[in-house]
Amino acid sequence: MIRVYEAENIIDAQLALDELRAGGLDAFIKGQHLTGGAGELPLSGVVSVWISIDQHEQRALDIIRDYETGKKTQHPVRQCGSCKETIDGNFGRCWNCGKWLDS
Ligand SMILES: [Zn+2]
Repeated sequence: MIRVYEAENIIDAQLALDELRAGGLDAFIKGQHLTGGAGELPLSGVVSVWISIDQHEQRALDIIRDYETGKKTQHPVRQCGSCKETIDGNFGRCWNCGKWLDS
């Protein structure tokens, strides 16, 4: 097993996991049990994404690099139209008031 990505939070980890699985890799998340109750955002660095087959490391790192590049360019930080809270671009919905954001 090799750790290929240190996630910012469980949502970030899940997105990276989806990318790896879409690329045909056997990947999984570690550390999500440390993240506390439902709805709580975990502390940084406690959630990581792993692959089970070491030989797939280079392919996994390529996918992760693309994922991180896409995250920066396609998901700018936005502002909620309702409560003016700053929303990370990965989220489709305001974490503060629950309003769905326009794409
Ligand atoms: Zn809001």
